Amino acid sequence: MSEFSARIVSNQLLANSSTRVLEVERPATCDYAILPGAGAVLSSHNSSEVERAYSFANAPDAPYWRFYIRHIEGGSFCETIAKKKLGEELCIREFFYFFSLGSKQNQENQEEQESYFFATGTGIAPFLCALTAKDSPFKLNPPKAIFYGARTSGDLLELETIKACTHFKSHYHFYVSRETPLCGMTHGRISDALASPHLIASIISPRARYYIAGLDQMVSEVSNRLIALGAHYSQISSELFYGQTASESIHPSLK
Ligand SMILES: Cc1cc2nc3c(=O)[nH]c(=O)nc-3n(C[C@H](O)[C@H](O)[C@H](O)COP(=O)(O)OP(=O)(O)OC[C@H]3O[C@@H](n4cnc5c(N)ncnc54)[C@H](O)[C@@H]3O)c2cc1C
Repeated sequence: MSEFSARIVSNQLLANSSTRVLEVERPATCDYAILPGAGAVLSSHNSSEVERAYSFANAPDAPYWRFYIRHIEGGSFCETIAKKKLGEELCIREFFYFFSLGSKQNQENQEEQESYFFATGTGIAPFLCALTAKDSPFKLNPPKAIFYGARTSGDLLELETIKACTHFKSHYHFYVSRETPLCGMTHGRISDALASPHLIASIISPRARYYIAGLDQMVSEVSNRLIALGAHYSQISSELFYGQTASESIHPSLK
């Protein structure tokens, strides 16, 4: 099993946000090729019993690894990481790979594929990783639409990166649920998009591939709505950030 020590180069809560940006140097000994959409298990060297999964938000070949961590007051790992100083080390292991975003198999079918991304908060990380990959298939065929929501605009991450990666071919839709939206954002939740007849007509297609990342409630809500609107479960891939109970609320065909 690959396991690396990585030096922290950035560790701060973003302004007006509950999101922490944690960056570590890519370990010199690491020849592991990070795939778009991948993640890893992080732990502190001092308290190895606390370990949690996080998705890479950086381009796969970047010299640093970036993680966006939603700060949870009292959260074991969140509180541990909040105390970490620059130059200290973290343990990173068990690389995982939920989405086949940009995989070889995916690239072969990429031209005919219509991709739709749904994310909330730090759930945007796997998509940022895939969109910014040097040989990203999404450069040739950008996602048809990205639906990205958070409670507040401060928790919507890297909007300029998202806009730059989607080009004119696709559309981005930003939602905030707990404050007045800024210009270019909509008040509400990303699942609201699936109640709009205009959007539904353009989203539901046999060539579509739906990728969903974030908290279990959102993932199950969006998956269930897509299926109710006629999408087939095999068209949906999801990455759950939290919640053992998720499987109970997800459409039986997705389990
Ligand atoms: C595949 C995968 C990828 C993930 N990627 C990311 C990522 O990129 N960024 C990110 O911020 N998180 C991500 N997570 C969630 C992350 O692993 C932790 O669960 C989260 O950071 C909380 O850890 P903690 O130890 O601080 O909280 P804990 O001590 O485990 O929990 C503290 C309290 O918060 C609740 N809680 C735990 N997790 C969450 C949550 N996510 N949202 C709301 N309440 C919660 C618990 O029920 C408990 O009451 C991912 C999870 C998985 C499974």
